[in-house]
Amino acid sequence: MFDSGAALAFVNTRRDRPSGRIESLGDPAAASAWLEHELGYQQARALEKAEHARLLALRDSAQRLLRARLAGSAPAPDDLLLLNQSSAAAPRSDQLGEDWRASLRFSGSGSANPRDLTELFAALASAIISLAADSSANLAECGADDCVVLFLRTDPRQRWHSQRCGNRMRAARSYAKHRSGGARG
Ligand SMILES: [Zn+2]
Repeated sequence: MFDSGAALAFVNTRRDRPSGRIESLGDPAAASAWLEHELGYQQARALEKAEHARLLALRDSAQRLLRARLAGSAPAPDDLLLLNQSSAAAPRSDQLGEDWRASLRFSGSGSANPRDLTELFAALASAIISLAADSSANLAECGADDCVVLFLRTDPRQRWHSQRCGNRMRAARSYAKHRSGGARG
């Protein structure tokens, strides 16, 4: 099953930046490649058009839900319905291990790895539900200019989703400071 990192990576495949949208799942081939490289999910054939559309619908709903949570507003009923239905489509069960760790297993195979798209969507929906319901998760949007990536703060002061964004913003500030002559910082 997927963790919060995978859930956020999925949600961040679409980034509506002020300077333009970045879409990492633009067509069925790109989406198949992303699922394989980022989630380790391999399918014998490429996604069909309708399956690709379902994947994007789940991703967009998940992003709207997490953004609503971030904004402190209520989740949209349609987004909740899609997420909950996707999760309910593949029966799973909680299993307690000898190491006291809990894990989810798909019913039937006893496997934690999704075997088909219904299970894949269910596993993604589960990861998003866990993240959205986790009251201790410090969800944030990157504070850098032209970056809209959602991430989990590991430190309350953390403002950038990546070192690259932080470096970019520090360089821009120092440039602005020099240009103003540095007289008033
Ligand atoms: Zn960023």
